[in-house]
Amino acid sequence: MTRSRFLFCLLSLITSLSACGQKTLQGFQDSAQIMSVEDAMSQALGWMDDAQNSSSLDASEKAFALKVKTTLIESRVLPSPDIHNMECDKSNGGFVAAYVSNEENSPIFVCESGFEFGSEFLAQVFVHEAIHLSGILDECQTTVLEQKLISAGGGNPFKNSYFEACGLSSDDDE
Ligand SMILES: [Zn+2]
Repeated sequence: MTRSRFLFCLLSLITSLSACGQKTLQGFQDSAQIMSVEDAMSQALGWMDDAQNSSSLDASEKAFALKVKTTLIESRVLPSPDIHNMECDKSNGGFVAAYVSNEENSPIFVCESGFEFGSEFLAQVFVHEAIHLSGILDECQTTVLEQKLISAGGGNPFKNSYFEACGLSSDDDE
């Protein structure tokens, strides 16, 4: 987390703005999950901040990084209402770590599996969902943007489950 980001979060907590405060985390009971969501949100916002200063993005991509950041700040993050719902339940065809509904201003619903791989994983998931909330629904388009914005922000994104189906590959394929 950058120093300015940290100070912003601190300020937000003090003034009860929603950016980093508990208001966005209603519904989470587990303190480890709350910490993970907060860490992931800071990481995601930090990537989008750094992406806006990256020479690897053009002006419209930088503008989109700002849009994703704004969307993340405004989004509510909630636990999935039922961990056995269709989106989350791996034994029932679900496979996602988090999801958004197609309603306007949908919260980001986090599945139990969203917490399995640490906060940096969850941060990438947040960026992915925020891209959807910014109006891009296509998974392949979202995945390309997710990889590009996070890389430009100094992160090292993992290949999400759409990667192969979308025909994406990269130089560091093993
Ligand atoms: Zn998606």
